[in-house]
Amino acid sequence: MKAVVYSKYGDAPVLTEVADPDCPADGVVIEVGATGVCRSDWHAWKGHDPVPLPHIGGHEFAGTVVAAGPEVTAWRPGDRVTVPFACGCGACEYCRVGDAQVCPRQTQPGFTGPGSFAEFVAVHAADANLVALPAEVGFVIAACLGCRFATAFRAVTAHGRVRAGDWLAVHGCGGVGLSAVVIGAALGARVVAVDVSAAALARARSLGAEVIVDAGAAAADAAVEEITGGGAHVSIDALGSPAVASTALRGLRRRGRHVQVGLLPGGPAPLPMDLVIARELEIYGSHGMAAGDYPAMMRLVADGTLSPGLLVGDVIGLGDVAQALAAMDGPAGAGMTVVMLAG
Ligand SMILES: [Zn+2]
Ligand SMILES: [Zn+2]
Repeated sequence: MKAVVYSKYGDAPVLTEVADPDCPADGVVIEVGATGVCRSDWHAWKGHDPVPLPHIGGHEFAGTVVAAGPEVTAWRPGDRVTVPFACGCGACEYCRVGDAQVCPRQTQPGFTGPGSFAEFVAVHAADANLVALPAEVGFVIAACLGCRFATAFRAVTAHGRVRAGDWLAVHGCGGVGLSAVVIGAALGARVVAVDVSAAALARARSLGAEVIVDAGAAAADAAVEEITGGGAHVSIDALGSPAVASTALRGLRRRGRHVQVGLLPGGPAPLPMDLVIARELEIYGSHGMAAGDYPAMMRLVADGTLSPGLLVGDVIGLGDVAQALAAMDGPAGAGMTVVMLAG
């Protein structure tokens, strides 16, 4: 099959011919229809996140099952599917209650094994991890759901418990942040978008943010508090920085909820725990979304309530992946880049 491979961290990935993946006994092989290019792929390529070399990246994908192992009962060739970026083992105590996103034995195509910048990709524990695509949801849209959009959906709904009329402060307007803006606005929340980039803020505004705050020009916590008349009901740090997480917490209303989605690779982050006590704030970590929680989101996508298509920027071919990754050395472009392989 054709695949985009790199042998050393930072070396230009090349489109080349490699062996097709074997089908795991409990898994499937999926013919990739579309796959997103995400900043996490860039981090892996740069060596920030160790991966087995040589490596095929790509973890946000949708496609068609072409082979199913003998232990798979729920899926067969021809099924149109997507998968969460973190796949559970399907057997541990967390997976059994539907929390595969925190499975201690999780696998991640594109990180722990070969990913979806290829014509075919293997997925383990298929019965636990595959998500059926409704006929209305095409591969390009579905490829946007697997990582950033699903992560934002769970942050806004399961952790944030955002209701219509609530103020939702989204700190950091990259892929996850803009997804949170789209989701919050669609669910009737009043969204305040915070970023230092004028382009990101303009995009947030066009996607449904009621108010934008330039964090480079003003103290974002005070600005959010003033705009929302006492603080946001829910805040999300979609960027991942101790300073942003702290600002987000300080901009919360009493009894507000903060959801930390952006990774904090530097280790423990100092947070204003005095405010957490005095204002009875809640803090959640959010790490993707398990396959079992996808159908609720998928229904809202299929009926048009949620429009992840708004987030799609460039649609490219497999031969353009190296260039798309290299472009991430600079600031983010306008929207998610998606690789289309098959309709
Ligand atoms: Zn991703
Ligand atoms: Zn598990």
